[in-house]
Amino acid sequence: MIVILSSKTAEERVQEIVRIIEKHEVKAHISKGEDKIVIGIIGKADPMLAEHLRQLSGVEQVVKISKSYKLASRDFHPSNTVIRVKGVEIGGDELTVMGGPCAVESPEQIDEIARLVKTAGGQVLRGGAFKPRTGPYSFQGVGVEGLKMMKEAGEKHGLLTITEVMTPEYVDVCAEYADILQVGTRNMQNFDLLRKLGTIQTPVLLKRGFSATYDEFLNAAEYILAGGNPNVMLCERGIRTFEPYTRNTLDLAAIPVLQNLSHLPVISDPSHGTGRRELVEPMAKASVAAGANGLIIEMHTDPDNSMTGDGVQSLFPDQFARLLQDFEKLAPLFGKRFDTKKQAQAVLA
Ligand code: PEP
Ligand code: MN
Repeated sequence: MIVILSSKTAEERVQEIVRIIEKHEVKAHISKGEDKIVIGIIGKADPMLAEHLRQLSGVEQVVKISKSYKLASRDFHPSNTVIRVKGVEIGGDELTVMGGPCAVESPEQIDEIARLVKTAGGQVLRGGAFKPRTGPYSFQGVGVEGLKMMKEAGEKHGLLTITEVMTPEYVDVCAEYADILQVGTRNMQNFDLLRKLGTIQTPVLLKRGFSATYDEFLNAAEYILAGGNPNVMLCERGIRTFEPYTRNTLDLAAIPVLQNLSHLPVISDPSHGTGRRELVEPMAKASVAAGANGLIIEMHTDPDNSMTGDGVQSLFPDQFARLLQDFEKLAPLFGKRFDTKKQAQAVLA
């Protein structure tokens, strides 16, 4: 249930209404928008409560929400969530570009790729230190050493960093070294991991499970939000369909659907979404046109020798740089800004 108040309601009155709500053994979450204040009620509310609230002065409307996820829904939070990390805003007017290798391989590799991401105009360096591999004998990532290498490269070149965390036990160490934590497609419903991520404030990029519905995806985000971490972004990375030509089918419609249903930023991953280098550029541009708040793109200086199989979907550095130049022209057509020169010179706050 949500309670809608005018944005002009005095803070004291808002707090009085919250106190009335919380007497009913439910939790109240306040979200302030431009023209309304929304109080979301979480928990099983007494049926009489809605009637009581409707009669209070200051209350414009009381609406029941039938969706199973609440905090992730746009009903609860009408304005877009903007996540701010060291001066970078994700979910606002600016397009966010995250680029880098599938896996961190060595200090030299990640340093050189960080330099290339920065000079091309990206804001975030991606790289996995812990890799979720389909087979147990495949390269599993360089672990904590990789986190250190990434942090150093990110700081040296003025980029935020994002890395995947696979288990609750590793959340704290990953959060110590990286600015954003990624939950991979295979872990979208690892509820212990989601709960643990709810206990910290580090931003989380939650990837859609490759067979998850929008409802399941938003409920997974709800676990993190309900735990107390509001900094969640959603990532469409392709779903499994009957088509074997592409590794996955990038669900472009997911971008506007998720933005209609939710206020959380939506990031597109055309690399895993297609699994083919030649498709990354057109699908990245299509994602911008569909309204994505950002992109996460694999790029490698030597993709043929990448330590995971993802070299086939990794852009070469010059392709990555050209793509970002094109974003600069494309973004304004779809209500976003992207300035490669400004980003290349930006210093993290
Ligand atoms: C990755 O980003 O390298 C990755 C493993 O992604 P996903 O979980 O989408 O497969
Ligand atoms: Mn990968």
